[in-house]
Amino acid sequence: MDIPAGLPALKELFESIEPGAAIALEKFMEEAAYKYKVGMEKLVHKPGQSITEFIDWDLVRGVFKLDVFTSMRTHVHKFFRHPQLRLLMEFPVIFLGAMAEQTPALYSLMNYADMVGGTWYPKKGMYSIVDAMYQLALEQGVEFRFNEEVKKITLHQSAVKSVETATAQYLADAVIGGADYHHIETSLLPSSHRSYSEQYWDSRVMAPSCLLYFIGLNKKLPNLRHHTLFFDTPFEVHAKEIYETPAWPSNPLFYMSAVSVTDPESAPAGCENIFLLIPVAAGLQDDSEEIREAYYEKLMDRLEKYTGQPIRNAVVVKRSFAHRDFEAAYNSFKGNAYGLANVLKQTAILKPSCRSKKVKNLFYTGQLTVPGPGVPPSLISGELVAKEVIRNF
Ligand SMILES: Cc1cc2nc3c(=O)[nH]c(=O)nc-3n(C[C@H](O)[C@H](O)[C@H](O)COP(=O)(O)OP(=O)(O)OC[C@H]3O[C@@H](n4cnc5c(N)ncnc54)[C@H](O)[C@@H]3O)c2cc1C
Repeated sequence: MDIPAGLPALKELFESIEPGAAIALEKFMEEAAYKYKVGMEKLVHKPGQSITEFIDWDLVRGVFKLDVFTSMRTHVHKFFRHPQLRLLMEFPVIFLGAMAEQTPALYSLMNYADMVGGTWYPKKGMYSIVDAMYQLALEQGVEFRFNEEVKKITLHQSAVKSVETATAQYLADAVIGGADYHHIETSLLPSSHRSYSEQYWDSRVMAPSCLLYFIGLNKKLPNLRHHTLFFDTPFEVHAKEIYETPAWPSNPLFYMSAVSVTDPESAPAGCENIFLLIPVAAGLQDDSEEIREAYYEKLMDRLEKYTGQPIRNAVVVKRSFAHRDFEAAYNSFKGNAYGLANVLKQTAILKPSCRSKKVKNLFYTGQLTVPGPGVPPSLISGELVAKEVIRNF
């Protein structure tokens, strides 16, 4: 299925698949727009320190319209009958950390953001956003120290005194930990000053990790789109292997990004830069070369079938990345890629707190605390915690 950009074209596509689906899509998006607006204005920008933050007349009045207690599955099925349309509308929640039947339909706001807000590519890729923020921070007088892993946080009377790396010690009035929350708590702090126990962490529901392939081809592939979802295998089985009975997927669906289609500078002339992503459960053991190689072969078979030509013999760059790399590069808890699952019992004040419960000048930011995983929420998390620090010091 070729998914066009923009609501008018999407409505046409939906109508061609299921009569009446254009109007259903419009209604779906009207409701999703409300959730997006309320979510952004009333829910996301909260530090999650107290339930009173959420006492708001608009929220109380709109609680049923927000569909917090309806599942995404039920919600989508109410609007669409065709299996492909249902799959398409449920897909965005796969990265949230639960099956569609367990994910609150509040998250149809993601469909709105994707389909009405649009899907955009920053020229030169995601790194250009990082670089722009870096340049802005430099202009504001921020000093950066690179390649210095924090090894220890030293305390004095239940307050951070300093942060230590292999080569330096930094005295601090307040510290914001932007690394993996579990890593900071369990590897950098003494056990007496951890806010959460190991049992607490083990009982958290994690969003998926992923098995990635970065591939360079020495030729162009015809008919490629920037984004392609390979939904040519049963979604239900794969979703269960991520969430219910965590295991390496038997026959995974996967996502392909071909950035060189949109951004020719991302590959040498006449070449293709592609990226393959299989969502997999966090915490899987046996992340071995053999397993990665076996999935590579499976994906190549399907890619060659889809594009109708040999690809393996054109591969000039090949790199894989999965759990053990997430752990080694990011100290990521259970090799997770997207933090904690967005389930109700891990939302807002039920997330790991952005302020330590035991160390008075220690704060946390990023995808394992409020408001949650993803690039925009992690950026908002930084803003929230900065305000908390300013408010408290
Ligand atoms: C393949 C993939 C695709 C994704 N796609 C999307 C998407 O389409 N949309 C979206 O919104 N989100 C997406 N995400 C999720 C998003 O990237 C994350 O939620 C977000 O980047 C998390 O930001 P963060 O600041 O919490 O953590 P990070 O960006 O991981 O930053 C934490 C930093 O701390 C460093 N660190 C760790 N330990 C130490 C230490 N001891 N000392 C010093 N530094 C340390 C790490 O090296 C890292 O640089 C994707 C993630 C992956 C992996």
